[in-house]
Amino acid sequence: MQPLNLKDKIEKILPSETKKVIYECAKIAHLKDYRIFLVGGVVRDLLLDRNVFDIDITVQGDAIEFCKLLQTETECSIIQIQEDLKTAKVRFENNVTIDFASTRQEEYPQKGHLPVVTKTGCVLSRDVKRRDFTINAIAAALNSDSYGRIIDYAGGIEDLKNKTLRVLHEKSFIDDPSRIIRGLKFSVRLGFELDKKTKQLQDNYLNAPNRDLSRMRIKSELQQTFELNSPAAFDRCVAQKIYKIFTEDANKNIKGQEIFDISAKYKTEIKHLWLVYLGVLFTCKEDAEFFNFEKNEKRLLIDALDMIAENPRTDDLFKVYKFFENKCIESILIFYLVTKNENAMLFLEKLRKFRVETTGEDLINMDFLPGAQFSEIFDLVLKERLEGRVSNKREEIDFIKTLKNS
Ligand code: ATP
Ligand code: MG
Repeated sequence: MQPLNLKDKIEKILPSETKKVIYECAKIAHLKDYRIFLVGGVVRDLLLDRNVFDIDITVQGDAIEFCKLLQTETECSIIQIQEDLKTAKVRFENNVTIDFASTRQEEYPQKGHLPVVTKTGCVLSRDVKRRDFTINAIAAALNSDSYGRIIDYAGGIEDLKNKTLRVLHEKSFIDDPSRIIRGLKFSVRLGFELDKKTKQLQDNYLNAPNRDLSRMRIKSELQQTFELNSPAAFDRCVAQKIYKIFTEDANKNIKGQEIFDISAKYKTEIKHLWLVYLGVLFTCKEDAEFFNFEKNEKRLLIDALDMIAENPRTDDLFKVYKFFENKCIESILIFYLVTKNENAMLFLEKLRKFRVETTGEDLINMDFLPGAQFSEIFDLVLKERLEGRVSNKREEIDFIKTLKNS
């Protein structure tokens, strides 16, 4: 049974420094006649007894004005202001920082693109309508006269009880398809399911996806989702065809568990785990162009796609070495997961440890002239090493001498 008041949860779960700041804000809101609330993820997570990492406070009215009042009445400073959205970030003297947002209404004149704010300072009941799921639309009053009182305009409490994700209106996914990926993220993180109607709306969208959309939010949600390192999130993305948001067709024959297992083996080397999950879905270079990837992210994905296209099957250890040399671990893992070419494992487990010990200086001392010939010599030595004919520097030098004489 959910409590109708969040007071005890705030008391039990939030750190004392955060609570101190919240009480202060509550007191001033009461004195100066502002209504302020916790809304969204904070309330959801407190109700679920989960830890909360950042606190957002919604002000019914103008959040910037409220923060200016806070600044004169308490020891705090406004460190950031966004005039168009009427939001402000405040740092308090105990170093707690809180984001303050004005209640607002949004519209999506261009479906799939960022919304346009049509009004700030509206009543809370209008503000919650712009949110993604009912469980993220629950508010808790913070004013001292009603401190902790839950305000649930959309039926979020009932959905929390039933572990259900329900959108607030029929056009929700058309307005903002990143909500489909948020749904995936929450379903996995919280163990919730989409309600029947919401699933139907998701299927409808995915049957006719709109590719003219803002990709920034989608990328960010995919990153958050796949960073959960959850095989279930990946399997669900495939089974529910969620990939349709960003690609026509995806590799569907890989299991989340395979990605999880192989990534666990190389976890200390992997810097972009989410791109391993995403990259195995990609089938062509346009997929890697779809998002505004950072340069190194894009390189990693393009390398993987090029390697998959080439997919050489060879027993020649030198060729195997050269194929994977200088590729990052993420690209190699994507290649392996898609092709199951065991040479990738041979390289990672064995071949990449081989090193030529002879240096350029050694070659100069042996009267070789610096130039393109050096890399040819190093390659010949590497081949000898990989094939076990030399195993230390002395043997390398002896081998190089035979080259000189031939
Ligand atoms: P998390 O724990 O991942 O931070 P959250 O629910 O707090 O989850 P945020 O991305 O921090 O998510 O967003 C805060 C709130 O803003 C959400 O709870 C939701 O009410 C609203 N929100 C965020 N993204 C969207 C969106 N794409 N569409 C509608 N509402 C959104
Ligand atoms: Mg949040």
